[in-house]
Amino acid sequence: MKKFDLGIKADFFLQVVPAVKIESNWFLGIKNGKILVSEPWKQSFKKDSKKLLEAINKVCIPGLINGHTHLPMTLFRGLEDDVPFHVWLFERILPLEGRMVSKEFVKDGTELAALECLRFGTTTVNEMYFYAEETAKVLQKAGLRGIVSQTLADFPLPEDKDLGTDKFAILEKLQKKFPQNSRVQIGLGPHAPYSCSDELLKKVRDAADKWNMPIHIHVSETKKEVEDSLAKFGMSPVKRLEKLNFLSSRVHCAHCVHFSEEDKKIFERSGATIIHNPDSNAKLGSGIAPIADYVKRKIPVGFGTDGSASNNDLSLFGAMDLGTKLQKLENKDTTAFTAAQAIYAATIGGAKAIGLDDQVGSLCVGKQADFVFVDLNLPHMQPTNNIMSHLVYSAQGQEVSLVAVAGKILYQDGKYFTLNPKQIFQKAEKWRKKIAKNLELIR
Ligand SMILES: [Zn+2]
Repeated sequence: MKKFDLGIKADFFLQVVPAVKIESNWFLGIKNGKILVSEPWKQSFKKDSKKLLEAINKVCIPGLINGHTHLPMTLFRGLEDDVPFHVWLFERILPLEGRMVSKEFVKDGTELAALECLRFGTTTVNEMYFYAEETAKVLQKAGLRGIVSQTLADFPLPEDKDLGTDKFAILEKLQKKFPQNSRVQIGLGPHAPYSCSDELLKKVRDAADKWNMPIHIHVSETKKEVEDSLAKFGMSPVKRLEKLNFLSSRVHCAHCVHFSEEDKKIFERSGATIIHNPDSNAKLGSGIAPIADYVKRKIPVGFGTDGSASNNDLSLFGAMDLGTKLQKLENKDTTAFTAAQAIYAATIGGAKAIGLDDQVGSLCVGKQADFVFVDLNLPHMQPTNNIMSHLVYSAQGQEVSLVAVAGKILYQDGKYFTLNPKQIFQKAEKWRKKIAKNLELIR
């Protein structure tokens, strides 16, 4: 009996704990999907490994964590870009969702997204959309890891016609099918403070306690949202959440662009976490979240892409690059946010920000073997003066050459082992035609 099911011999290895640094000539020994050994390479590891995978002129990194996304929106990619935000959202995307979103749409859109996650080295997603069960099933099949949240809001959802309006009954069923701590699990997704009443938010809080579930919510994404809350409730969205005793370390908040000093203090003491979506915030003109400040205050911060309609891709490499540069620009200081901090936020920081840091985010002994190879044998990745810098400022995602979750290889050198790209692209084309017809009707 060999000691390891799989051994990884890597020319370069990205360590993120206790500090972000690059190691050379490293070995990972994997048994039953988990990491048994992580240390410098020794010749004896070869005979201890049932199969040895060599990362030659490649860097082995932890699988990236996408802390906020709406996967099926891949089918809306590039639609109605560059129109005013309220037109884009209220006159295009929302009416289109009302017409188009179905079980089939969610399944096909999630498959396309899963393919893209694999291509860009993302192994864990924190997802929020409609027909949560369909998304969870696709992630299961694709071999990815994630938390799929059931959306809750005071307004009608496109899934209501099929699934009914009692979302807590749906959750009751889903949490049995996808138990907590399994590869794909279920969360609560109250859409945002402005779309949820006090009563609904309290129900969500109590259900999360009962089922020990994470909560995924949009918070203070736009300035208008904060102004509206001040006018309607006499307090910021964050203050309102605090008053409802809603915030805790199980609450993962997307955006958090417009925070007052008081809001920041509330986050410091509540343990609530932040997911930064620089591409979406830039493209929709929402603003720049002060993440350098959040990190200084020790508030957990991860990166997200948001949906493909507002980004327009699901690359965490893109988020690291833009997210870091925006902090330098906003603070007029090159040291405001560094490549090492970006890598931290896309790996172990992101895992902390969605409550999965005991399982993923770093390639430490005892953790899940979710890892990615990034090819350095490319013009824009040479010479390898500073691999950390290349990962953040040069790589875009296509450099990924291998992706594994729980020790199982899901993508390698252009081949997908759990998904069929040809079929997925055919379905995407079918949806493109349907969407174009419907778009004509609503314009
Ligand atoms: Zn979002």
